[in-house]
Amino acid sequence: MNQNEKTMEKIVSLCKNRGFIYAGSEIYGGLANSWDYGPLGVEMKNNVKKAWWKKFVQENKYNVGLDSAIIMNREVWVASGHVVNFNDPLIDCKSCKMRHRADKLVEAWCEENKVECNVEAMTNDQLSAYIQEKKIPCPGCGKSDFTPIRKFNMMFKTFQGVTEDSQNEVYLRPETAQGIFVNFKNVQRTTRKKVPFGIAQIGKSFRNEITPGNFLFRVREFEQMEIEFFCENDEKKWLEWLQNWKETCEERWIEKIGINKDKLRFREHDPKELAFYSKWTWDVEYLFPWGWWELQWIAYRTDYDLQQHMKFSGRDMQYTDPMTGARYVPHCVEPSWGLTRAVLTAMIDAYDEEEYINGNWEKETRTVAHFHKNIAPIKFAILPLVKKDEKQVEIAEKIFHDLSKDYFCEYDDNGAIGKRYRRQDEIWTPFCITVDQQSCEDWETVTIRDRDSMEQKRIKISEIANYMK
Ligand SMILES: [Zn+2]
Repeated sequence: MNQNEKTMEKIVSLCKNRGFIYAGSEIYGGLANSWDYGPLGVEMKNNVKKAWWKKFVQENKYNVGLDSAIIMNREVWVASGHVVNFNDPLIDCKSCKMRHRADKLVEAWCEENKVECNVEAMTNDQLSAYIQEKKIPCPGCGKSDFTPIRKFNMMFKTFQGVTEDSQNEVYLRPETAQGIFVNFKNVQRTTRKKVPFGIAQIGKSFRNEITPGNFLFRVREFEQMEIEFFCENDEKKWLEWLQNWKETCEERWIEKIGINKDKLRFREHDPKELAFYSKWTWDVEYLFPWGWWELQWIAYRTDYDLQQHMKFSGRDMQYTDPMTGARYVPHCVEPSWGLTRAVLTAMIDAYDEEEYINGNWEKETRTVAHFHKNIAPIKFAILPLVKKDEKQVEIAEKIFHDLSKDYFCEYDDNGAIGKRYRRQDEIWTPFCITVDQQSCEDWETVTIRDRDSMEQKRIKISEIANYMK
């Protein structure tokens, strides 16, 4: 199946109908751009998290984990620069009053008119001038008459405590990274880690985006998987780590999540499009049906964040090298993944509609996702061939009981076996275990059906678990 045939409508509809993802607050007409993970979605998301944590925390001798609070002291965001710098360029249409993001307006226009243009590298003045020069129309009314660009801070603001005054104003964190930076000293002291070492965190972040969209791709409430990797304040060293992380990340995506290598690429940021805290950034981009978009990045954040926190908090953020006695503020390389995007990417990448010949030698089409077995929500479907056969049910229930201690399984005794297989294909289950007449005779064998090849084999019950190893 071609990438451009995998429309978002197909993915959204499958997600909704099979219990992966629902529209948020649906019975009240929904809330724009919010999504809830259903029974299968939550399994899949947890599996991506688990695979990441295992690879980057459990199996990595340099890294340790952290889970910091979402609501932090307001000063954190003053120090990090988000209060002043974390803005979207907004313009209003004077004619129909519709609000737009200036950069997105230019980007969409360039795409439509096949003009090459690096929008992320343009300043607000350049964006304004470009919109005027090209007479870019308002998507709402078609006129080209806009207000000047205003900066809109993307952090969600709320109040802690009972009084709503500026003293109690707090933000929902726009990135998990700052929770790591403010705990740098705590972690270093209590773990006795030596530089280089990393602190990893998975958690929710919030950005009040003006133009979210494309299902899970750009959402206001999302989850990140981030590592702040602290290294020596020596250019040769952090360059080495930057390169090292780039290679690790490329390899891991393919290996652990099973994403097609041909649809991934690294793109180095133009110096002008760098975030205010970064000196060097690589984006890992994936070829979505709507084009290449960022999935993950690796940024060199210098010693900016720790220096800022040292300045604003008055606490010493320096590290002393136990060998040389040198004191310095470590530099930081940040590999950062969007968990929400990773889930969407895995879905799009694996989604397929395939023709095959059924048992009656007829052509049929099946929807299937060739997911890596590690992230498939359900690993084994246990299917007694005949629901009314007591022996079959007894064996099937015993298998479910034993296997489900280690793996997420589904027990399904409803309908014709072919239909049950199709349903498991649709929810991406890698293995179907069928208990049949022969199982009742020998009490030790079942058939196992492979999702991708659709091949069936007779195996011993004791061998089933090996298929997940
Ligand atoms: Zn308008």
